[in-house]
Amino acid sequence: MAILVTGGAGYIGSHAARALRRSGYEVILYDNLSTSDRRLTEGFELVTADIADEQALKPVLKRVDAVMHFAAHAYVGESVENPRKYFRNNVEGGLCLLNTALDAGIRRFVFSSTCAVYGVPAQIPIKEETQRQPVNPYGVTKLFFENALEAYGRAYGLRFVCLRYFNAAGADEGGEIGELHDPETHLIPLALAAAAPGDRELQIFGTDYPTADGTCIRDYIHVNDLADAHVRSLQYLEKGGHSVELNLGTGQGHSVYEILQMTETVTGAAVRRRVVPRRHGDPPVLIADATRAQRMLGWKATRSLRDIVSTAWNWMQKARSEPQRA
Ligand code: UDP
Repeated sequence: MAILVTGGAGYIGSHAARALRRSGYEVILYDNLSTSDRRLTEGFELVTADIADEQALKPVLKRVDAVMHFAAHAYVGESVENPRKYFRNNVEGGLCLLNTALDAGIRRFVFSSTCAVYGVPAQIPIKEETQRQPVNPYGVTKLFFENALEAYGRAYGLRFVCLRYFNAAGADEGGEIGELHDPETHLIPLALAAAAPGDRELQIFGTDYPTADGTCIRDYIHVNDLADAHVRSLQYLEKGGHSVELNLGTGQGHSVYEILQMTETVTGAAVRRRVVPRRHGDPPVLIADATRAQRMLGWKATRSLRDIVSTAWNWMQKARSEPQRA
């Protein structure tokens, strides 16, 4: 069974590709390398092309049985500044991929969605039935694609799993791959960088939220737990499962201060920090109700916050000791 992994040179796609291969799948990566890194693709077949390039997609789609679609722009702030870029890639490019896959006879599709489709939810933990009201263009583009999948499912017999990730973090336990974003905007890698030798400082975006310690709460999930959910989603579709949307989180929330505390425990160093005003558009609390994923896929996150921070730390140290990776 062969799978096309778009965005396979990216953070989550590269971890999912390894999980697929460990489960016996043949994997072809497809990536334009615009924001990702060729080094995360070592040992895999890589087609270097854009998801909006129908001519490049056609021959490779003939060789696969299903698609896992990770390729997307994923910076919330940038999507506000430059929505055109997001609609072009995540919507236009995404539709090109979807249409070309459909024409190639593919009927199984796993999509990387996000809790950003919910916007600022009224109820925590967030269930899949919660109204989807994204509050930034990034979330709007992901919701658009979810809606396209639903319509295509009804009309053309496509079956899909939409996986709505909460806060992906951590790195592969083998230490060969991890998070490589440029620029890096995520809390855990930035907190680790602010604990490592040097003068990097973490900015804490607001301590006046209505939470116990005043900082935002998020549901951090290990990237290999996400990868495992992708393999199970594919197996679920292979067994004839119907289309479904699933939250992927741990069901546990951690505040920014709790993350800094764990970072200090793991690294044994103080996190240099400074409190700054809130970042625009950050909801106070986002926590998943992931019981549907457990019910439908038999999946549950198994890695702890300590596992997340320590694998990310191992990867960062390795990347720093091999400058070509950093
Ligand atoms: N955050 C922070 N400083 C940073 C980056 C993030 O205080 O430099 C906070 C941010 O306000 C949010 C949480 O950490 O509450 C997680 O942010 P991240 O960007 O990692 O993920 P998001 O929840 O935005 O997808």
